[in-house]
Amino acid sequence: MDRVYEDSPARPDSAARAPAPAHTTSTVERGSFCLARCACGWSGPARRARDRARTDAHDHETAAAG
Ligand SMILES: [Zn+2]
Repeated sequence: MDRVYEDSPARPDSAARAPAPAHTTSTVERGSFCLARCACGWSGPARRARDRARTDAHDHETAAAG
C-alpha cells in the first residue's frame, strides 16, 4: 500500500487567492443632488457637490478594502 496520488483534486493555491470584492462605485445624480453608489448595494448620502459624493465613494472603497 505505497501508492502516491500525484493528482490532487483541489489546488490549495486557488482557495487562498480569493477574488477581490466587487466594490465598484459610481456617482448618481438625483435632481440637484449627487450621491455615491456601489455595486455591493451601498449608497452614500445625497450631496450637493459631486466631489463630496466621490469622496463618499472613495471612503467606502477604502473602508471595505481594509
Ligand atoms: Zn461596496
